[in-house]
Amino acid sequence: MVDLSTYCNAQCPQCHRTDQEDISKRAYWLPLVQWSLKTFQKRFPQLSLHSYRNMSLCGTWGDPMMNKDIFKIIEYILSHSNIILTVNTNGSMRDETFWWELGMLDYKYNHRLNVIFDIDGITQEQHATYRVGTELDKVLEHMQAYSETGARAKAFTIVFKHNEDDVKEIAKLAYSNGACRLYIQPSNRFDKNPDTFRYIQKNKIKNLHPSTKYTKFKEIILSEEIYNDEKNKMLFF
Ligand code: SF4
Repeated sequence: MVDLSTYCNAQCPQCHRTDQEDISKRAYWLPLVQWSLKTFQKRFPQLSLHSYRNMSLCGTWGDPMMNKDIFKIIEYILSHSNIILTVNTNGSMRDETFWWELGMLDYKYNHRLNVIFDIDGITQEQHATYRVGTELDKVLEHMQAYSETGARAKAFTIVFKHNEDDVKEIAKLAYSNGACRLYIQPSNRFDKNPDTFRYIQKNKIKNLHPSTKYTKFKEIILSEEIYNDEKNKMLFF
């Protein structure tokens, strides 16, 4: 797993980079840094890439798609190895052209790029309850543009009390905007208090509550079946 950047356009309340005392800020001790293509090439010279089968660009301290050289870094990895590359992103940054071109890169290198977009609700309000600072419409547009090239987009939902009843609808929304899989992850960041996670947003105390319906990670292959009520039950529970 490689973390390429501490930059992010979002302020997810339970993220390691977010200051829970004021989620518009990042943790005070976290510097803003990002790897350039040159730094990446120094750490992973061409020949070294052959020793990896998989690589994940997953943001623990920031979103990889905020890195200014991300397109070049992805192309460098895919063009000099057989690595299956996975990138997790909130997907709300950049524009449709960027995501379409990224999909074309996946096509050029034999579908070895997995991009996983965060979709946490069926409305902007529900989505941004956790993905604060991101726009659901943009994420869906970007996922659609990416998948229109033939690239297989995937979606990821962190489940809480506020969205657990709509997971099936989230699956339909993801499918109709190009996703072929949905990963469902109940939030597991309720260490201090198992029932409530408190944080401050715009000078107001807010609370997140854990899901009571979903307790385990689940992967769902999206297909026309998600529109079938009977099979829905088997797929989601
Ligand atoms: S999108 Fe990812 S990196 Fe950004 S704040 Fe949310 S969890 Fe953290």
